[in-house]
Amino acid sequence: MPTMTTYPPVPEVWKPAADLVAQVYALEPLRADIDARFAAGLDNVAAVDVMAEAGLLGLTLPRRYGGQGRDYTALAAVCEALGSIDTAHQIALTVHLGLVAMAILQWGSDEQRTHWLPLLARGEVLATFGLTEPGAGSDVGALRASARRVAGGYLLNGEKTWISGANHAGLFIIFATIDPTLRHRGITAFLVPRSAEGLSTSVLHGKFGVRAGDTGSVICSDVFVPDTQVLGEVGEGFALALAALGNGLFTVGAGALGIAAETRRIAAAFMRSCGDDGRGWAGGLLARMVVREEAARLLLARAAALKDAGRPNTVETGRAKWQCAEAGLANAVAALDIWQARYAVEHPALLRHWANAKGAVIYGGTSEIHQTMQAAYALGDRVERLPRRPAPSAADLAE
Ligand SMILES: Cc1cc2nc3c(=O)[nH]c(=O)nc-3n(C[C@H](O)[C@H](O)[C@H](O)COP(=O)(O)OP(=O)(O)OC[C@H]3O[C@@H](n4cnc5c(N)ncnc54)[C@H](O)[C@@H]3O)c2cc1C
Repeated sequence: MPTMTTYPPVPEVWKPAADLVAQVYALEPLRADIDARFAAGLDNVAAVDVMAEAGLLGLTLPRRYGGQGRDYTALAAVCEALGSIDTAHQIALTVHLGLVAMAILQWGSDEQRTHWLPLLARGEVLATFGLTEPGAGSDVGALRASARRVAGGYLLNGEKTWISGANHAGLFIIFATIDPTLRHRGITAFLVPRSAEGLSTSVLHGKFGVRAGDTGSVICSDVFVPDTQVLGEVGEGFALALAALGNGLFTVGAGALGIAAETRRIAAAFMRSCGDDGRGWAGGLLARMVVREEAARLLLARAAALKDAGRPNTVETGRAKWQCAEAGLANAVAALDIWQARYAVEHPALLRHWANAKGAVIYGGTSEIHQTMQAAYALGDRVERLPRRPAPSAADLAE
């Protein structure tokens, strides 16, 4: 069975981060036994430790907090490389850095930033993002986890589900509502350490994709959170979640792009090895894989450039995530078609990437939700609203 033995070339748009891409591909533990780990459903916490040692967990955090001070273009390049190895690695960076650390940087108080960001940059504490609930996924306003006012803070109660890295995280952003009748305007973000009394987590077994990554549930039973650990303002959680997802889904798109690229590479190597000159139906599939991947990468590079410049980018980032996720799934299917037309045996890496690609069209906003939003933007029925706290630009990240 042909396998990839050399590292892939760095795409033109990610050349400014070529050093980081080379660094990711050189991290052998990220690829060691990955097919077997996926098959067995073993999570990648050891790989996350390796990413932490390499400084990747603080990639886009300012140097004054112990980060590397790199930009969004670098973040996309790294996440594409991670996703091309396995989605679980990219998700680890998505939740820790994209969804939590970057949110604390943008929305946190001076005390919160000074306390948490150095720990997160070094990977001494892993972090995750608790938004989804059994009855609230796409419809965030249906969230039911409650935050009841008590002396000096809030008592959190409720269940979060499908939370990436839940069982290894030392810090959670938990979204809860001070009043469900307020819908979006009641949602508030809380910083909750694992040591908080009443917080427990459990593993979600039997996933279809992302089987080499930890996913779980988080239960809060009368978890006390002091006022000092409210992130942003009370009632500002929905805006904060959307802003955080702007970084999260950017990295999800990049990871899915990694699947599009890797499955294209596997398909091309396989065709080459069996003497297919590309003039038949498989060549047509391969050509479409190339164009889907390239178009998606250009959309993502456009979003990265806007983020780096500190310009509004919600429309472009959502569009890029949607198209990268679709490209990842379509290319994985096309590669399987090319493989299975000649071999009646499993290709573990292709099956793994295909199953992983199914996740990327769900988290970070499903494809249906992004499609609906893009239509609303195109019709002028929806416009980008800038958050109270501006997202940091590349210049801010470099400080
Ligand atoms: C591997 C994995 C990791 C995840 N990690 C995290 C995490 O770390 N933190 C976190 O908070 N969440 C996480 N999630 C949850 C993820 O964000 C949700 O699954 C996602 O938002 C969709 O919500 P849902 O599963 O409840 O599906 P639903 O929202 O119930 O959607 C079900 C279907 O209905 C469609 N649909 C829903 N509403 C509409 C609409 N208005 N118009 C058209 N179609 C619609 C959807 O597109 C979808 O096809 C993760 C999910 C997965 C699979």
